[in-house]
Amino acid sequence: KNEALTRRGLAFLRSKEALVQNAKKTMAQAHAKRLIAVIKANAYGHGDVWAAKTLYEQLAVHDFAVATVKEALRVRAAFLKEDVQVLLLGVQPAEQAALMAENKIATVAGSFDWLRRAKESLKAEKRQQRLVVHLAVDTGMGRVGAKTEEELASMVDFVRQDESFELGGVMTHFATADDHNQAYYDQQLADFIHLVTDLDIPEKYWHLANSGSALFHADQVPTQTIRVGAALYGFNPADGEYALPIDLEPVGRLVGRIWAVHRLLKGESLSYGATYTAKKDEWVATVPIGYADGWTRRLSGMSVLVNGQREKVLGRVTMDQIVISLPEALPVNTEVTFIGQEGSESISIEDVARYAGTIPHEILTGISDRVPRVDV
Ligand code: PLP
Repeated sequence: KNEALTRRGLAFLRSKEALVQNAKKTMAQAHAKRLIAVIKANAYGHGDVWAAKTLYEQLAVHDFAVATVKEALRVRAAFLKEDVQVLLLGVQPAEQAALMAENKIATVAGSFDWLRRAKESLKAEKRQQRLVVHLAVDTGMGRVGAKTEEELASMVDFVRQDESFELGGVMTHFATADDHNQAYYDQQLADFIHLVTDLDIPEKYWHLANSGSALFHADQVPTQTIRVGAALYGFNPADGEYALPIDLEPVGRLVGRIWAVHRLLKGESLSYGATYTAKKDEWVATVPIGYADGWTRRLSGMSVLVNGQREKVLGRVTMDQIVISLPEALPVNTEVTFIGQEGSESISIEDVARYAGTIPHEILTGISDRVPRVDV
């Protein structure tokens, strides 16, 4: 931690213990036996291989979901020998089906047409490995998946009859599991059960529940498999809608160091646009974090913690640096907390997201690779 802070003045500190505990608690809440850990977008900023290895080694999690072929290849490479499933979510290029099969990467298949095109790729490359596909059903998210019983049936038949494929699962994704639109959730669930039950696909193949479903609809999680991201990382996906029903611990803290301290005189302004002008002489500090690190410009004016007290980001956030208020002339290298707890004060990822007018997912996935990830 100290080395990263000295070198870069900035670090995203992450706790394996918190990740494992959050996974355990979320599974218990949803009565789940199997976890597909969603580690796309670098495990929501925490480090995909780090999260996967931790969950594999400490909780025997074997299933990891990512969003791009590049992410899948990186995670696969970390588990060359182990019996681990790496699953691609979302729409994927069918032309890369052979590459996926060759690298033991499973994928969501969103339509009959997608399967047909994937087969072309598998045939052209004459691969031995079968492509494991999880058939998507679109029950109301509108991004990917079969919408009718006929299409789903033809996809199931195609996969069952063709040597190039293996059926790995059948899935849907909830649009309103983390807000109060219970009717929409109920309808998606009913539609999925109706479509899949008629096709005689055993329940062990189903996976539906995201964090919102696992946490807030625990009695309505229809399978023993949950497919969860947010809850693992310890934040509330439904901030402002539902309180967390269990204690989750934030896995990550974003901290930095003061790298310069100076006196701003009454009437002097700072940063682009000179939007902040000192009303009296005051101490301020420069800290090496900016929007290129993921500390978005919308966080101008946000609080940070210094010695357990709230200070303010003065003027505009720039690409690499911000200026903050200080109560007095503090030493260079004093620690600053952007996200996390310091003494009795805390700034949660939910607080930051709310201030920036977005959701925690966007802030976390925006923490760029300029920020060292450090285990604590
Ligand atoms: N399943 C799919 C298809 C997703 O796209 C996502 C995330 O966006 C998840 C599961 C995990 O969602 P959450 O982070 O809310 O648990």
